[in-house]
Amino acid sequence: MTAMPNRRCNLAAYERVCMNGDKQCQSYESLREYYYNLINSRDDWAFVRFYGDADTYIPQEDVQSEFELMLEDALAGKIDVILTKSIRLFARSTEDALAAIIKLKEAGVSVCFAEEDIDTMTAKGELLIILMGSWSQEKRRKISENVMWSKRKQFREGKFSLGYSAMLGFKKPAARDKNPEIDEDEAKVVRRIFTMFLDGENYTSIAKALTKDGIGTPSGMTDQWSRTTIKNILQNEKYSGNALLQKTFVESYMTKKSVPNVGQLPQYWLEGSHEAIIEMPVFELVQSEIRRRNVLGKKLHSQALLSCRIVCGVCGEHYVARIWHNAGDCRVVWKCHKRYENAKPCNTPVLSEDEVKAAFLQAYNRLLGGKEQLLGNITAAIEQLENMTELEKDISEARLVAAGLTKALQDLIRLNAHTPLKQGEYNARFEALSKKQRENQKQIETLSLDKRERLAKKERLTRFSMWLEQVKSPLADFDLVLWYASLDIITAREDGGLMFEFKDGSVVVIY
Ligand SMILES: [Zn+2]
Repeated sequence: MTAMPNRRCNLAAYERVCMNGDKQCQSYESLREYYYNLINSRDDWAFVRFYGDADTYIPQEDVQSEFELMLEDALAGKIDVILTKSIRLFARSTEDALAAIIKLKEAGVSVCFAEEDIDTMTAKGELLIILMGSWSQEKRRKISENVMWSKRKQFREGKFSLGYSAMLGFKKPAARDKNPEIDEDEAKVVRRIFTMFLDGENYTSIAKALTKDGIGTPSGMTDQWSRTTIKNILQNEKYSGNALLQKTFVESYMTKKSVPNVGQLPQYWLEGSHEAIIEMPVFELVQSEIRRRNVLGKKLHSQALLSCRIVCGVCGEHYVARIWHNAGDCRVVWKCHKRYENAKPCNTPVLSEDEVKAAFLQAYNRLLGGKEQLLGNITAAIEQLENMTELEKDISEARLVAAGLTKALQDLIRLNAHTPLKQGEYNARFEALSKKQRENQKQIETLSLDKRERLAKKERLTRFSMWLEQVKSPLADFDLVLWYASLDIITAREDGGLMFEFKDGSVVVIY
């Protein structure tokens, strides 16, 4: 480290800390110790603090990063010099690094980059700032060019790869320009995972079952299935015979890091790009179920039959299991989660699993009493869901707008490449178009989510009516499959009644 200042001053250090447990990377503690010793080795230096962000750190609105904290401290006059490893690792992007360096320089704080041997307060540092400014411009141009012309052209033509080695269910086609082929043995496993999930199992329990049965994992590196693998399979649209392209893109040509595309660039949905393993309506039903479980959160990870199935009719909270002690006797009961936390205790019933099962049987049999009418209602509801003319019109209109915006952006970039525009003006126009593009993307997402929800609901009703047709009434015993297939939610009412809501929208109250 040669680019060290000669005056007596307060020094701090900043680095991105490797979090993947790699032995080659230094930990937060060892880096802190290194800088502490380095700075304290000289009498004219004072150690302020070591700031370290995880290299996987993603900015969050309500959490301050160490980088931001360091800037704040430096601008408040607590730091004179910041030591850091390299320009590449200083900030998330060249733009961010440049903005910080200029701000710090204006406040009289220098940044010393060890790898490049540069102090931003020197003439060499001045040059660096000019260079970084041009990199940043170049980078923006590169992203736009790469993505908008070459890559997007490929995407438009429907060229994509499935990554066969790590993907269960598909194999490389015999001919190069052919679509992926289904590997029947692997596809069976995929179908089993989807079925188990719809039967009410969760990621972890599916993973356990597959591991127990000795089923090979997608990567083949381990024989242990993980919940993440299950989750990824359930959410992979390629199983429905479609492909969503440009899920990620390379953000920086300096780091070559791939980042998720959350609306910065358009995505392409290739419908029917290859043969499906899971039919589209079933796939959408699973996505809808995943969204539902996400909303319910952790509570659903419990495999208990009643978890997340009963809500309190007074406060709307879920029922949870509690151990009930009574005269040496102890048993599990279900009651409102917030029963005693609210100002007035919820007066809703305390239930045992057997009581709920018996009531479900009763509710179900009452429902079957009016089976014919019920089936008629369901058919009508399905027909209504099938009519998506209006929705599809909205979607195609929004897609037209999207195409227009993309063209306008391309024209602007091309214009800027050939005739030097004032950069301020170019940036403003680029930003305005990007903003419109993001809004439009969001609108398309909302509309297609709506469409997919309708598809899921239709599948749910179709399955339910098939159940109804098969089942012989009245039912004599509690049926677990039926429970998962037909029940939506139970509301425990203050008057002691249990209101069963079934998946077709039918409601039955049992006292
Ligand atoms: Zn309550």
